[in-house]
Amino acid sequence: MKKLFLSSVMLIGALSLQAQLRNDDVYELTHIDRSNIRNEISIPGFDGYQTLKCDFHIHTIFSDGDVWPNVRVQEAWREGLDAIAITDHIEYRPRKEILKGDLNESFKIAKKEADNRGFIVIQGTEITRSKPLGHLNALFINDANPMDVKDPLKAIDVALEQGAFILWNHPGWPDDKSTLYPVHEELLKANKIHGVEVLNYMEYYPVAFDWCNKYGIAPFANTDIHGLISGDYGVKEGRMRPMTLVFATSKSEEGIKEALFARRTAALFDGKLFGQEEYLMKLIQASLQIRVINGRTVEITNISDIPYEMTNSGNLYYFPARKTVRFTVPKEGDMVFENCFVGLNQKLTIPDHYWSMAF
Ligand SMILES: [Zn+2]
Ligand SMILES: [Zn+2]
Repeated sequence: MKKLFLSSVMLIGALSLQAQLRNDDVYELTHIDRSNIRNEISIPGFDGYQTLKCDFHIHTIFSDGDVWPNVRVQEAWREGLDAIAITDHIEYRPRKEILKGDLNESFKIAKKEADNRGFIVIQGTEITRSKPLGHLNALFINDANPMDVKDPLKAIDVALEQGAFILWNHPGWPDDKSTLYPVHEELLKANKIHGVEVLNYMEYYPVAFDWCNKYGIAPFANTDIHGLISGDYGVKEGRMRPMTLVFATSKSEEGIKEALFARRTAALFDGKLFGQEEYLMKLIQASLQIRVINGRTVEITNISDIPYEMTNSGNLYYFPARKTVRFTVPKEGDMVFENCFVGLNQKLTIPDHYWSMAF
């Protein structure tokens, strides 16, 4: 009996290192709980801008997603994002007979969760039509219900009256052709399309990035997620979802909106970055910190979570995320950032006269 008592005491002692006693019958294994732990994604800002990590295309169970809206906020908060938009379809709601909420309901549920966490959720909706028009997200709206109209161009106008940012979604889906039809040309001319998805889910549309430069619209990378983020992009791999980087003057909905209309975005997925030359150059300058050791021998510390690959005169140099690399600055030749795109098939290039003077 005495022996049994002793071993019970020892067991309690061992457990109490990691468990919290709720009562004599129940131990709570709090050390396992990850629900209140957030990953931090490190991507520096520049010129007074913060770099915000955002996903502007997300579905919930209120359209054809599999997930309740508050889970979308929990996923994004945990992953280390700064903002998401809830963009359920207007025209495709296979569960509307079961879920009675109107077109604003999913946003309202997500917003409640976001407010509890100090997280930003933007109200949006997806105007969902066949090609040639295709799908468009209206972001920063305040009521999606009046957009449920027969004429999609009318729906766009209603969104614009609410001050919406109009994003052209997945231009290469579903027919594997990225086509800019006359209706898009008209909308672009009238300043009624403000951005386009260069990356959506696991697809990349190179031509769409060319339209960003040609028409002065902002590049985006979004998930268009319907299932669980961890289910589709994995957990253990540590891969980040597609995200739109927003160079904003403040971490707020207003700050994001101002930056989107000013075209200060870059699209990031699978280690590849797409954006205007000016912003990518500054992002790299802020990310790769140089410490001169001796002459042309330097250490380069990549303080960001974006790995960079650079070539010079046929040699490949790799600057992994959050690592320091010993590096001998080449004598000559352009530096080409192989994973940074500033135009169609055009990589960010730092001409040798720009940097060779420094060494
Ligand atoms: Zn869509
Ligand atoms: Zn969608």
